[in-house]
Amino acid sequence: MAWGGGWGGGGGGGGQMFGSSSNTGLPFGGIPSELMDEATKLLATEPTHEPSDIKFQQRPSAKERRRLTLPKMLGAYPGYVVNGSLLVIIISLVLQAGPKLTEYAINNGMSPGHRSLKVIAVCGGLYLVLALLSSIFQRIQVSVTGKLASRVMHDLRIRVFVHFQRLSLDFFTDEKAGVLMSRMTSDVENLQQLIQDGISSFALQGLTMIVITIILFTTNVALATWTILLIVPVLFAFSIWFHHASEKGYLLSRDRIANVLADLSESLYGIRVVTANNRQKRNITNHRHVVGAYRDANLYTGRVNAIYGPSTNMIGILGTGLLLGIGGHMVIEHKLSVGALIAFFLYLNRFFQPIQLLVQQYNSLQQGRSSVIRLRELLQTPPSVDEVEGAATLPTIEGRITFEHVSFGYNEDNLVLHDVNLEIAPGESVAFVGPTGAGKSTMAKLANRFYDPTSGRVLLDGVDIRTVTLRSLRSQLGVVPQEAFLFAGSIRTNLGFGRTNITDDEIEEAIDVVGLRDLIERLPQGLDTIVHERGQTLSAGERQLLALARAFLARPRVLILDEATSSLDLQSETVIERALDRLLEGRSAILIAHRLTTAQRADRIVVIDKGGIVEVGTPKDLLASGGSYAAMYEAWLASGGRDATRDEDD
Ligand code: ADP
Repeated sequence: MAWGGGWGGGGGGGGQMFGSSSNTGLPFGGIPSELMDEATKLLATEPTHEPSDIKFQQRPSAKERRRLTLPKMLGAYPGYVVNGSLLVIIISLVLQAGPKLTEYAINNGMSPGHRSLKVIAVCGGLYLVLALLSSIFQRIQVSVTGKLASRVMHDLRIRVFVHFQRLSLDFFTDEKAGVLMSRMTSDVENLQQLIQDGISSFALQGLTMIVITIILFTTNVALATWTILLIVPVLFAFSIWFHHASEKGYLLSRDRIANVLADLSESLYGIRVVTANNRQKRNITNHRHVVGAYRDANLYTGRVNAIYGPSTNMIGILGTGLLLGIGGHMVIEHKLSVGALIAFFLYLNRFFQPIQLLVQQYNSLQQGRSSVIRLRELLQTPPSVDEVEGAATLPTIEGRITFEHVSFGYNEDNLVLHDVNLEIAPGESVAFVGPTGAGKSTMAKLANRFYDPTSGRVLLDGVDIRTVTLRSLRSQLGVVPQEAFLFAGSIRTNLGFGRTNITDDEIEEAIDVVGLRDLIERLPQGLDTIVHERGQTLSAGERQLLALARAFLARPRVLILDEATSSLDLQSETVIERALDRLLEGRSAILIAHRLTTAQRADRIVVIDKGGIVEVGTPKDLLASGGSYAAMYEAWLASGGRDATRDEDD
């Protein structure tokens, strides 16, 4: 098991990205010299983003605790909402003036006895002005809702990200990274779409329908009633069918695209294993399968759309034909003017369109709503390890670590640690040894408060660590995980990760202390070399040394180190052990020792097995006592000194 990257906070990618371009080339490629001038010019025009003074509090403020709802999100920008709504109302009215003007022009400018060029000209002019106005209003409305959506989404993205920073380790272990990414991408985008186009267009279509219904009835009650009786029920029934069919299609394609993405990301992350095991062909077959299922879902949606759009048009045309008969009859009987009949048909055309659009957009509205629900659930997940109200700041500690009757399970009915008692004195280094799965890492995770004990207490200098702020606790604890996590950015920014305001001199000192000087001198741009792919271009030993240097610079009072299990070569091992000796000077330390050479150098050894401590003592005493550590040590010597925990299991 690997520590889930115990180094909270953000990575530093900026600043050093464009160092000197001399001596570029893989794997530490920079900007080719011929492009350097262009890049410098481009950089000069880029706005600089100074590190802003962000206040992060473990406990969310009252505002941050508010339930996430669409009205609340929009309510943060009342000006945009009011302007947007007014514009939608104005547009829905202005758009409907055309047919009324046509009716007026026909009845008062073109019919026998009422011929007037002036009326026609005025109506035509007004028509043009209104068309122009409505297009101007629409432009403003799109820009207002666009701005509203960008601002609301910006707030939401930050809010979700801040929430991620607060959540505890178990959340990230239980939730797949892919699912969390989809919350940040597709759910947030659905909402953006909804706010940008969905709501306004839904409101516009809805209003238009109401306005047109009123106009139809004021134009001619009988004809309007015929419309409602003949066309609307058929259209309504058909729309309900479409709604169900397209929802089914939407759910299918949503599930299937999730499968495609999951398969894709697994194949990409596991590409090394795939290649090594010759799994390419099977992988392709599998991917073909999931992509094929996604295509089928899309084909289904396509078919449903192809049926709905043209069929509703057909219903409209047939209905209009019938109404033409009824309306024409009314004109002959002088119950309706020709102008009114034409206006009626012009409105009728506009009446069908919003119905179609409303039904089609209903899905995106649903999509947006379920995204709000999913994001709300995410934001309401409380961190399992949280600060108590009014938690105190842990004063600078000496480094006494106490496990007091600690029991713990990752889930309630399966305890991993059983009533563990242990005291580590200030400045003492203690090695945890024992078989894989015994509970060594779990003990270390409890000391750092990645999890809280199910029962019992963990104390630092006699203070229950649940009563102090997480920030003050973790600033005094340094964690070196088994797999050092390097962030995108230069080696320098990676080293200065655990503390702000680290001077260059301190960095240079750390490099010498852990024995990284050789590596830094070998790198094309020294400390400013950019780390690629989480440090995959460095060796495991080099990454481990960088992690040690990082811990050295953070100057914690207590160090928790999960030793790298990767078989380091002898030379790296010696360098790392020397670095460790310097790092441990004067610090309390918990070492999860996979190599017994490391355990032998600790002040005391704690043998853990099946979630309990079976032996504690100095290396000398334990060897002399002939207990389980002595047996482990002998087996290790016999096997030539390989990884201790592996020996036990293999
Ligand atoms: P060690 O460090 O001694 O190899 P761990 O402390 O990592 O062992 O694990 C102890 C036990 O807890 C193992 O049985 C392991 O499977 C289980 N375990 C570790 N992490 C988790 C987790 N996140 N969720 C559930 N069980 C876990």
